[in-house]
Amino acid sequence: MTDWTEVATGLAAEFAETAAETDRSGQFPVRNIERMKEVGYLTIAVPEQFGGGGADLATVAACQRILAGGCASTALAVNMHVFGLGSAAEGWYAGDRGAEQLFRMVAGGTIVGGSLTDAATGLNVRTSATPAKPVDGGYVISGRKSFCSLAPVLNFFWGTAADTETGNLLLFGLNRETPGLNFVDTWDTMAMRGTGSWDVVFDDVFVPHAAVQQDLAANDEELVWDAARERGFSWFAFTIASIYLGLARTAVRFSYDRVTSRTVTGASLPMARQPAQVYGAAEIELLLRPAEALVADGLHRRAETGLLSPADLNTIKHVAVNAADEAVDRCIRMVGGQGIFRKLPLERYYRDVRAGQFHPPNNDVALETIGKAALNIDPGAEPRWPTD
Ligand SMILES: Cc1cc2nc3c(=O)[nH]c(=O)nc-3n(C[C@H](O)[C@H](O)[C@H](O)COP(=O)(O)OP(=O)(O)OC[C@H]3O[C@@H](n4cnc5c(N)ncnc54)[C@H](O)[C@@H]3O)c2cc1C
Repeated sequence: MTDWTEVATGLAAEFAETAAETDRSGQFPVRNIERMKEVGYLTIAVPEQFGGGGADLATVAACQRILAGGCASTALAVNMHVFGLGSAAEGWYAGDRGAEQLFRMVAGGTIVGGSLTDAATGLNVRTSATPAKPVDGGYVISGRKSFCSLAPVLNFFWGTAADTETGNLLLFGLNRETPGLNFVDTWDTMAMRGTGSWDVVFDDVFVPHAAVQQDLAANDEELVWDAARERGFSWFAFTIASIYLGLARTAVRFSYDRVTSRTVTGASLPMARQPAQVYGAAEIELLLRPAEALVADGLHRRAETGLLSPADLNTIKHVAVNAADEAVDRCIRMVGGQGIFRKLPLERYYRDVRAGQFHPPNNDVALETIGKAALNIDPGAEPRWPTD
């Protein structure tokens, strides 16, 4: 049986060698994806019956945490492929056969990515501003999505658009070669520069009915919390939380090594012996350890009970990415002015970790979900906010 954490550890060590160059150039690390394909990592969560690794969520989250320590961009990019397959695999174990064709495609080398983000309006998971016009046999879509990680290499694309007649939110899958579907390199960012999260331009793209996987009533889909929805959300929340915590731990290890091995001129003991550094390390641990424990506890509870609530998952993701963010901030103070030099990796960790807050649920959405659940307010209650 494959030891996936060992595989991830080997890959992380390899990817760490080129992570700085990937960040500096902003070029998508195609070679890393090829390596992951070679060692089977791209099928880690696909059921064994389809030639995959059959890894469960706890294993994949652990691997993604390790991978992020080597190259956060690579871990985040590949996550957009892995999390959906893991969620579909869980569905398959539960008797939902819908993803079998996808598993076969991925076992054959297909890379899957997607964008639920409209370029014009940002992320609103309840609807889409990309219009899908009903025509004979399907829809014609024109518009622009953004933040499509893995865009340089993906073979199969998931997207959302709104039916112009019903307003329903459509989730559809298309081959990369679909006429009118174009991937445009717009990814010049401060953080996660190697994720290739390009724009996707639809120029009269015909989407047949058969390609539409979900057709949901507008503004309705968050109100139904069933096992299928929980699976997708769980796989995303736990893997994202793990990636950013893995990234933060790498920054912390770097910073601890730095102050432990550095003795400034005239001092008798290494910098780590200074009270500010000791307290700094304590503050970092007090941020990361509860977050790591919360993720571990969440995985454990999910394995026991099978279903976590939206407020639970929002809490786990929110705590993890924000603890990671604050811990890396603290690392910069610990290392001092050297920390902002590009010759050291800390400034890259500092930039990359900032992206965590933007993945759904973003901080503000999470606060709303957690707060309303705590106050026993129906998440779908109207008006959403009082006006008086
Ligand atoms: C590195 C990276 C890779 C990504 N890869 C992918 C990918 O592969 N596929 C994909 O689909 N997406 C991807 N995303 C996109 C991500 O999921 C978001 O869609 C994107 O960051 C835009 O979200 P936003 O919060 O900035 O959007 P906006 O909707 O523009 O929100 C801006 C701000 O408005 C506020 N806000 C907006 N809506 C609400 C609300 N309902 N409640 C409360 N406050 C609100 C929040 O403060 C929010 O921060 C990626 C993002 C990053 C950073």
